[in-house]
Amino acid sequence: MLIAGNWKMNTDVDSGTELAADIAAAVKKSDLGTVALAVCPPYVSLTSVREALGETSVALGAQNVHHEDEGAFTGEVSAKMLLSAGCSHVIVGHSERREYFSESNQDIQQKVAQARANGLVPILCVGETKAERDAGDAKNVVEQQLRGGLAGVDFGAPDDLVIAYEPVWAIGTGDTATPDQANEMHAFIRGLLDDLYSSAFADDVHILYGGSMKPHNAEELLSQPDVDGGLVGGASLDAESFIAIAEHG
Ligand code: PEP
Repeated sequence: MLIAGNWKMNTDVDSGTELAADIAAAVKKSDLGTVALAVCPPYVSLTSVREALGETSVALGAQNVHHEDEGAFTGEVSAKMLLSAGCSHVIVGHSERREYFSESNQDIQQKVAQARANGLVPILCVGETKAERDAGDAKNVVEQQLRGGLAGVDFGAPDDLVIAYEPVWAIGTGDTATPDQANEMHAFIRGLLDDLYSSAFADDVHILYGGSMKPHNAEELLSQPDVDGGLVGGASLDAESFIAIAEHG
């Protein structure tokens, strides 16, 4: 199980550092067994959050990365910069980036490749809109996003990649996929990974569910056989809720 928090464009350096310190303190007090945690704060807080997480095993991730190594790309952040700030993970292809920043599957593939080339674990987000689900197109959309985002990229081990299935209609809305809907899509994604890589690889890749995961619904979602964790937005901004979700893992 992996529970990753996506803080989005929330918290400043002070409040983000405080949240990380609260998470670190809660982790020390709780028994999470084999559940791994990651937090993905805004760029400006990466280093202070890393420090506040201290000796805990909570991993640090970013929310985006540029596909070039370096150069004249004002406002962008490279994979090497993320590594130097202590990141091991990076979210790629979140639906908010697809929608508000017009990221295409091809753009996302370049970011996945860049993350991989630098030893960062991409958390590749895929998921359909409500209109696409209603039109019976959900699997088709997810397949295109997955195949497009991973095209030509090889991974050494299953831990080098994380997939997050995030139905757009469930993100920040309070609506979640039912456990059956989530599991069905996760199993479908695992089948695609089997086709792209191998069954051993597909079996062991973490496929996270994201979309209004909260302490009260985490247990039923995380108990599904193909759900290997969660990508948590809103509820990850409160240490107690974030850890409560992880305790269901
Ligand atoms: C997300 O944005 O990745 C997410 C899952 O958000 P929320 O949990 O708030 O729906």
